[in-house]
Amino acid sequence: MSSYDVVIVGGAAVGSSIAYFLTHDLGFTGSVAVIERDLGYTRAATTLSAASIRQQFSTSENIRMSAFGVAFFRDLKTRFGADADVGFRECGYLLLASEAGAETLVANHTLQREEGADILLMDQVALADNFRWLRTSDLTLGAFGRSGEGWFDAHSLLTLLRNAARDKGARYIHGEVSGIECDGKRVTGVTLASGERVSSGTLINAAGPQAGEVAALAGIALPVEPRKRCVFVVACRAVLPGMPLMVDPTGVWIRPEGEVYICGVSPAEDPRASDFEVDHALFDDVVWPMLAHRVPAMEALKLQRAWAGHYDYNTLDQNAVIGPHPEIGNLIFANGFSGHGLQQSPAAGRAVAELIVHQKFVSLDLTLFGYERVMSGRPVKELNII
Ligand SMILES: Cc1cc2nc3c(=O)[nH]c(=O)nc-3n(C[C@H](O)[C@H](O)[C@H](O)COP(=O)(O)OP(=O)(O)OC[C@H]3O[C@@H](n4cnc5c(N)ncnc54)[C@H](O)[C@@H]3O)c2cc1C
Repeated sequence: MSSYDVVIVGGAAVGSSIAYFLTHDLGFTGSVAVIERDLGYTRAATTLSAASIRQQFSTSENIRMSAFGVAFFRDLKTRFGADADVGFRECGYLLLASEAGAETLVANHTLQREEGADILLMDQVALADNFRWLRTSDLTLGAFGRSGEGWFDAHSLLTLLRNAARDKGARYIHGEVSGIECDGKRVTGVTLASGERVSSGTLINAAGPQAGEVAALAGIALPVEPRKRCVFVVACRAVLPGMPLMVDPTGVWIRPEGEVYICGVSPAEDPRASDFEVDHALFDDVVWPMLAHRVPAMEALKLQRAWAGHYDYNTLDQNAVIGPHPEIGNLIFANGFSGHGLQQSPAAGRAVAELIVHQKFVSLDLTLFGYERVMSGRPVKELNII
């Protein structure tokens, strides 16, 4: 049986970020293993995501986590070398509100400014002036991120984190965790589907949409499950200058991706998912009509292709669960990020590494996202879930 000080279940963005920070920033000298069932990451949320980053949250902790993500991107070459690049396009988010949502947008903006986020509120006239391709007649307000928001390449981020962690000794084991062994109030190791056993000093759940299933292997209830999200790739002939990632009051979102655009919306019916079938009716019935309304030039758009991925959906409050289990102290969660886990993976990695090395959060206090709130059923209210 192999034995490691830290075993991480799941080696995509969050698991690899934890491995990266453990092996780099904090002087940790113990051994690290990452167990990943699919080293091609074909179905990971990380590689199927829209890979965008924003400061526009209503919770300080979420703003701070994403702000660290931006700082991490800006510091990429110092950390990973001159050739490092995640293709960060700092083109902003534009969150739109009708009269009904305007008050919330203003309240969120106040908090975001207090947190140092570079977000500008725009009334209907300013929206029409700045985004001439936008239909504004039914809009009251927009919030635009002038800097610190945009999109990037998820594969590049994952590759950088993973390679750097491996270079410093983290071992990636190809296998599926199918059992967790406990001794009283401690986890002692995991069993793989192959029958192999791996013993662990600390076990970290970074299993993304499967985090609830992994927690259940230790008899623990974690309200995280896979929920399907479809991404549609569309072409539009018209030029739409300065288009940021735009979120309509209906929840339909769109952003440029090179020469084309990607878009989507969370479905009204949102059950636990196991398949990766694209819901084309969602595009025909919801996304396209809304885009054609909001951006008249998009009436003539052309659907090129689409894919489906799974959110790591926290059914309690769509926010991360980060921290140790209150009774099984050597089991740490880094789960449930829902639609904002990729941008928060650098901050989550640093936070979990700090918990292991210092037994507490050091750089950023994420106590709010602890498992205790799951046990007591107290959701964290984040108003900007996309
Ligand atoms: C369509 C879509 C759009 C999104 N858009 C954004 C966005 O714009 N911005 C953003 O920040 N976030 C976005 N997200 C969310 C983001 O992708 C996730 O929150 C984030 O990638 C979670 O990373 P993770 O490493 O925890 O999970 P994952 O990337 O899913 O990785 C989990 C890994 O664990 C492995 N695993 C699972 N179970 C086991 C097991 N038993 N044994 C071994 N390995 C196991 C899996 O194979 C997988 O590789 C989006 C998600 C989707 C689906």
